[in-house]
Amino acid sequence: MMNESTHTPAPVIEAQARPFSELPLSPSLLATLGQLEYHAMTPIQAASLPLALAGKDLIAQAKTGSGKTVAFALALLTNLNPRRFAVQAMVLCPTRELADQVAQEIRRLARAEDNIKILTLCGGNTMRPQMQSLEHGAHIVVGTPGRIMDHLERGSLTLDALNTLVLDEADRMLDMGFHDDIVYVASQCPRERQTLLFSATYPEGIAELAHRFQRNPHQVTLAEQHAGSKIRQRFFEVAHHARLQAVGTLLRHYRPESTLAFCNTKQQCRDLVDELTRQGFQALTLNGDMDQRERDQVLIRFANRSCSVLVATDVAARGLDIADLEAVINVDVTPDPEIHTHRIGRTGRADRDGWALSLCSSADRRRVDNIAHSTGTEPEWQALDSLVPASDEPLTPPMVTLQILGGRKEKIRPGDVMGALAGEAGLTREQVGKITVTDQSTYVALRREIATDAMRKLAAGKLKGKAVKLRALED
Ligand code: ADP
Ligand code: MG
Repeated sequence: MMNESTHTPAPVIEAQARPFSELPLSPSLLATLGQLEYHAMTPIQAASLPLALAGKDLIAQAKTGSGKTVAFALALLTNLNPRRFAVQAMVLCPTRELADQVAQEIRRLARAEDNIKILTLCGGNTMRPQMQSLEHGAHIVVGTPGRIMDHLERGSLTLDALNTLVLDEADRMLDMGFHDDIVYVASQCPRERQTLLFSATYPEGIAELAHRFQRNPHQVTLAEQHAGSKIRQRFFEVAHHARLQAVGTLLRHYRPESTLAFCNTKQQCRDLVDELTRQGFQALTLNGDMDQRERDQVLIRFANRSCSVLVATDVAARGLDIADLEAVINVDVTPDPEIHTHRIGRTGRADRDGWALSLCSSADRRRVDNIAHSTGTEPEWQALDSLVPASDEPLTPPMVTLQILGGRKEKIRPGDVMGALAGEAGLTREQVGKITVTDQSTYVALRREIATDAMRKLAAGKLKGKAVKLRALED
């Protein structure tokens, strides 16, 4: 080695994946983590969990998809006494989808502990059933600030026994105008408690919130990780008016099973869905004008692989945990390099390769230069007309979603549905994908080849002793 004595290089710290087993977690939680195949901590978990488990208040910042939910879930479960039947932990989330995802993740982690009751309290659902559930008691409440405030004001929720308060996606909650609601809710919590604040970004308002109700918070920030080799990024120049059509060209060439396409406006989202539908693709959009049931259906269909493309704005896609995206398409390059990095960071997860494909008009080239500059990478340009369809077959999603009327309210469980599918329709587990039970409906993903036949047989049979009402969700 040359010059070793005259110049000591900065040490290269290899990010060593650290096992959960080095944390002071209960044996049953460690066992569950193993079953879920969460072996190593993600960087934000490794940075925040030792502090959180030591009872410290935290401000933790890391990008979407970095594993923040598991970080705070392990902390609040560790603080929990299952034998004490009172609300001991509360997670505030910006939207119902996120609250549902968080509640689901906590449920998965808590499955080895007996009888931990987790309740979601969000707007959009009627108050009365929530009040009844609260009367039955819960250990953990997950919900949106507005709805939780309603319950506090009515006295249907009391927080005397609370020991852990979590603000998830704090930046987003501030964006959505929840500041005052959060302050009110926090004022109703006992002073002696642990407060964990999680956020993807760190806008000004966060420091103010933290100052208001955290005690000597430790701040843990994970610098934006640049797109590693797992995300292959390409830029395509295309005339502004031709870019919606160009999305079809990308899809026919790369043939990704699941694609998230980002547009800058809601109108553009709708236009793109129309264009893709016209070209024979299964595409759906998600926006704030939809009612809850419509949003649920879109997310379910995309997540269970019966829709190829989800078109969304940054706001609509924010925080959604959609695993296994083969591609992210930027229909417009965003002017903000940080947002660009967030968008493309949604693909190439969990050791799988992903494509980040950006369409760019000549007027937007400066944006690409900005991105290249801020990430220290050289953009790879490719000519759109060099792309050829990889197959003559249309890009069809592998699954079809079946909607069955009746859900949690009718006490339908995934096992009942699988039972009927195996019994009445003669299906094997391999022919059935995700089964999602919501309040009013149950959604089942079926392999496309057998879907029609299976639906016919199922419609002729019974579920929980009743006739089955069902339909395929296809546009
Ligand atoms: P964030 O809240 O930071 O956006 P999430 O908590 O939604 O991220 O986690 C993203 C994904 O990573 C989830 O699907 C989760 O199950 C998975 N995940 C979290 N922690 C681990 C881990 N230690 N090992 C493997 N996968 C993990
Ligand atoms: Mg999150």
